[in-house]
Amino acid sequence: MQPVATDWLARAGVGLALLRLDLIDPQLSGNKWFKLAPHLARAAAEGAEGLISLGGAHSNHLHALAAAGQRFGFATAGLLRGTPQDTPTVRDLQAWGMTLHWLGYAGYRARHQAGFWAPWRDAYPGLLPVAEGGGGLSGALGCAVLVEQVRAGLPSLGWDDYDALWVAAGTGTTLAGLVMGEEGRHPVQGALAVPADHGVAGQVRALLQAAGRPDTGYRLLDASRGGFARLDADLARFLFAWEAKTGIALDPLYTTKALLALHGEVAAGRVARGSRLVLVHTGGLQGRRASLDRLRALAGYTQGDGPREAP
Ligand SMILES: *Cc1c(COP(=O)(O)O)cnc(C)c1O
Repeated sequence: MQPVATDWLARAGVGLALLRLDLIDPQLSGNKWFKLAPHLARAAAEGAEGLISLGGAHSNHLHALAAAGQRFGFATAGLLRGTPQDTPTVRDLQAWGMTLHWLGYAGYRARHQAGFWAPWRDAYPGLLPVAEGGGGLSGALGCAVLVEQVRAGLPSLGWDDYDALWVAAGTGTTLAGLVMGEEGRHPVQGALAVPADHGVAGQVRALLQAAGRPDTGYRLLDASRGGFARLDADLARFLFAWEAKTGIALDPLYTTKALLALHGEVAAGRVARGSRLVLVHTGGLQGRRASLDRLRALAGYTQGDGPREAP
């Protein structure tokens, strides 16, 4: 847990600390490790040879899965969206021994249809299928322990409590896990990194229902900025200004959007003076390798000038 100080927080009298999941491990970073852990435990209990899952060419989830396979010695296979691409993420997946299959776009869209997994189960009978992003109830339950980590970190901040938990949401699995861990003690604010038509609200509701929990204790806020992978100049400038001020690197697609949404709420006076907020830094820094040059250009840096690497 790390306290952060910026001008806009100070002006509003709002305290903010980050739970730095990005620092856990250089390869198994962020919320994806917590979402994966229960799937790995199940694969081990069932004597599976490994795991198979899906994602895009920059997927933090597949990256964490491939890293875990390499680290702990189990087989991994990845089903990828679209046509073959050479990205820093894909090169890591290959280097770590993940078997890759490119499904095309239509093929990938079929992932929610009944029967999608049947041919892959036949091809890889020893591999346990894991939903996209490590979703599902077990992934959410893997994230519930994060609330204990927040609580354990409070003394280091000199805080006896906090007022709300903030997290970026893609599928809403991590958010649902935090709501489960909180059991109503603190509200959880989910900053939606994807547009509303991605069905996150319904997914969170279904996960809470599956866990036998009430559908309360959280709020969703649109932080998508018009599309999941869309980058803009305001986002790029915010990201670099934040990094220069705090020394904490951000991924552009999730945590930057969550912080921008938080900034918007603070600037609009919707966060009470004296509030103490905790935001979960969900990691994902590996994914930004492919977009750093574009972010620099959007922020107005010219060749040779401005930040090149994470601080
Ligand atoms: C996947 C991801 C999220 C979103 O997690 P969900 O559980 O899908 O909502 C947030 N931040 C980062 C960095 C991620 O990689």
